[in-house]
Amino acid sequence: MNKMSVKDLKDLKGKNVLVRCDFNVPMKDGVITDENRIQGALPTIKYLLDAGAKVTLCSHMGKPHSIFSAEVKLNKKDLKKVDAGETTKEALIEKAKKDEPKKLTLAPVAKRLNELLDGKVVFATDVIGKDAKAKRDALKEGEAVLLENLRFHWEEEKKDEGFCKELAYNADIYVNDAFGTAHRSHASTAAIVEYGIVKTAVCGFLIEKELEVMADTLENPQRPFVAILGGAKVADKLNVINNLLEKCDTLIIGGGMAYTFLKAKGYEVGTSLLDEEKIDYCKEMLEKAAKAGKEILLPIDTVTTDHFPEPIDEAIETKIVPSNKIPADKMGMDIGKKTRKLYAKKIKKAKSVIWNGPMGVFENPTLAQGTIAVAEALAKVYGKCTTIIGGGDSAAAVQQLGYADKMTHISTGGGASLELFEGKVLPGIACLNEKN
Ligand code: AMP
Repeated sequence: MNKMSVKDLKDLKGKNVLVRCDFNVPMKDGVITDENRIQGALPTIKYLLDAGAKVTLCSHMGKPHSIFSAEVKLNKKDLKKVDAGETTKEALIEKAKKDEPKKLTLAPVAKRLNELLDGKVVFATDVIGKDAKAKRDALKEGEAVLLENLRFHWEEEKKDEGFCKELAYNADIYVNDAFGTAHRSHASTAAIVEYGIVKTAVCGFLIEKELEVMADTLENPQRPFVAILGGAKVADKLNVINNLLEKCDTLIIGGGMAYTFLKAKGYEVGTSLLDEEKIDYCKEMLEKAAKAGKEILLPIDTVTTDHFPEPIDEAIETKIVPSNKIPADKMGMDIGKKTRKLYAKKIKKAKSVIWNGPMGVFENPTLAQGTIAVAEALAKVYGKCTTIIGGGDSAAAVQQLGYADKMTHISTGGGASLELFEGKVLPGIACLNEKN
């Protein structure tokens, strides 16, 4: 990696360091239900505190309505309700102003961080207001303050220059360690550096690790290199499919997107998820693979149901059929047993694997078997193969199954890792200083 990291910085003692973290943790009734993201940020924060820096931490949490800004923004969903006469703009704004400071505050994260970091962290009740400035000014060496939710200001997502200047405040150094938002170009993730407000800009240990493992595997994979893609739609992953096909030896397809590929091969897919407009694209990818001497593996058998489960975890009857014999009134919901074996066999022979997206409607236990089989196959090759889980649903599946410590790397950013797989440069990384 050619970007500077915190390790490349000298003389951190007494320096004001602004660190963008990803503390967007799941919460229920003010209680953090999964603190992985907090744990992931600790190495960088500890390093800076131990080196005697004065650390200002910042992050977003959820999708608030910019309640700290003069203008409260309403999203499309809200505006539809207003148009339908169900409510008024004023009522929605009042509700957001009342609920969100409680629901989407980072105060519980500050409390947890303070416990984990031996009482060295305080919380500021605003982002660029009086409390934040007073607390930043009062920091002693080896102490930290966490600012309130950045997205309480619309200026964060709109990269407002004045906001960037106030957010930077007294910062000598900017550290980006929020891999989960590195694909976003916002004030705190990129603009603060792009506008030249903070000149010294480096990544933290979390981003460094994410890049080391993922970018290096994409650029210099040990072969055979297998990429596994699943999830709902082909349309969402066009560039990922194209880019991965160029890099890998075998591309394994599962999930809802498999049916558009099967249709492209001339099979009937019943009532399965189908992206009509992308059938030609899938044909093109199949041809591209054949020409390049690469393999695209599609499900050879399919778990079908006669309807989509509602609720999603409904007990449902299934029948496994060959993928070229899906009945007209049936829906493909998961990869079948033969496909699971076929995919596991490929994984067994691989030296590098990256995986993004479930093999079926894994939220339903009956339809989760394909996703479980892939996770198991990856766990089995632990130590012999580099296995990378690109965040999101596949990461959740691996964690729920208890295989987290049997993977080389589980990314903390679903969207960001997908953009890396697409071959894109992430704004939150592009803006950082190059190593000499
Ligand atoms: P994505 O966000 O694109 O990774 O898609 C994840 C979603 O794809 C999950 O909610 C799955 O339930 C859904 N999914 C996976 N397989 C299928 C399928 N065969 N039909 C419909 N949805 C599916």
